[in-house]
Formats: sequence, C-alpha cells, structure tokens
Amino acid sequence: MDGKQCPRCIGDERLSFEERTFKYCRPAVMYDHFDREHLEEMKENEKHNLIICDHPQCKEEGVKLQHLDHFRAHVMSRHGVSLRRSDQVKSFAKISRRLLSVCS
Ligand SMILES: [Zn+2]
Ligand SMILES: [Zn+2]
Repeated sequence: MDGKQCPRCIGDERLSFEERTFKYCRPAVMYDHFDREHLEEMKENEKHNLIICDHPQCKEEGVKLQHLDHFRAHVMSRHGVSLRRSDQVKSFAKISRRLLSVCS
C-alpha cells in the first residue's frame, strides 16, 4: 500500500475501486480523513477488544487485533502506512476544512 491510502477504506466493499484505492495528496490529509471517518468506530471496536484489519488480504487471513495501538503497529509493519498516535489526533473542531479542500 501507499502511505497516503486509507487502510480502512481499502477493504470497504461499499466503495468503488477508485475510492478504495484513493491516494491522498499528503499523509496528513489521509490522517484527517481517518481520524474523522474511522476513529470513532474503531474506538468502539476497541472496547470489545476486537479490531479487524480491513485490508482484503488480512480479512482473508482473519487478522484480529485487540487495541488501536496494535492496529497502528500492524498497518505500519504490514502495509507501510503510519497513522497518528492517539495523543496526536486532533479534535474534530481543529481539523482544517481548508486543508481538505486543497486536495479535492
Ligand atoms: Zn478511510
Ligand atoms: Zn492488515
């Protein structure tokens, strides 16, 4: 994977191939997308100690992780995508709309 691709969207079968493999112009823009679109859901999953990697290959292998930090370490080592640590995640309000529109 490319470091500017979203590791969740890539396995989302509701999306088109283009959307699943979409590359953001900068990693920071992908992080903003990830934090906004997926983090809440993943935190919810973390409460149940069940985080699944959505990458098609990992789904096939049944990769299961317990914590968000495990997921971060996994996508880093397995897919070459680094994500923000929880202490680096910006609050929703602080995410710049301008930054997002630069890329679209
Ligand atoms: Zn995504
Ligand atoms: Zn994976």
